[in-house]
Amino acid sequence: MDTTKIQHYKKALLSIQTRINQLLTKEQSFLREFNPLTESLDEGDFSQATVDREMELLSRDALLQISKLVESALKKVESGTYGICERCQQEIPEGRLKALPYTPYCVSCQSIIEKKYEK
Ligand SMILES: [Zn+2]
Repeated sequence: MDTTKIQHYKKALLSIQTRINQLLTKEQSFLREFNPLTESLDEGDFSQATVDREMELLSRDALLQISKLVESALKKVESGTYGICERCQQEIPEGRLKALPYTPYCVSCQSIIEKKYEK
C-alpha cells in the first residue's frame, strides 16, 4: 500500500478515535446534534459518514472495543504493517478497509474467528 493511502487511513482512524472519545464522554444530546452528513468531510474521509452513523448505534462496550482496535491499527500504521491481516498475514482488501479502517482481519479470517466465538 502506498504512503498516500496509508495517510488517508491514518486520518480516518484518528477521526474515528476522536469521535469515539466524544461519544463516550459527551451526553446523549450530542448524538442528536451530530449529523455526519453535514460535518466537514474532506475527500480523504470517504467512509467517515457511514462509520459515524454506525457508531452512534453502538453500546459503550462496543465503542471501547473499537477504540482498542483503532489504537492497534494506528500502531500498525507506525510500524508499517497496516492493512495486513493479523491471522493469515495477507493484505486486507481495500474495500474492506474503507468500510472498517480499524479491522485487524480480512473477511475470511473474520468469519472464521466469529464462528469460533459462536461455539
Ligand atoms: Zn486473513
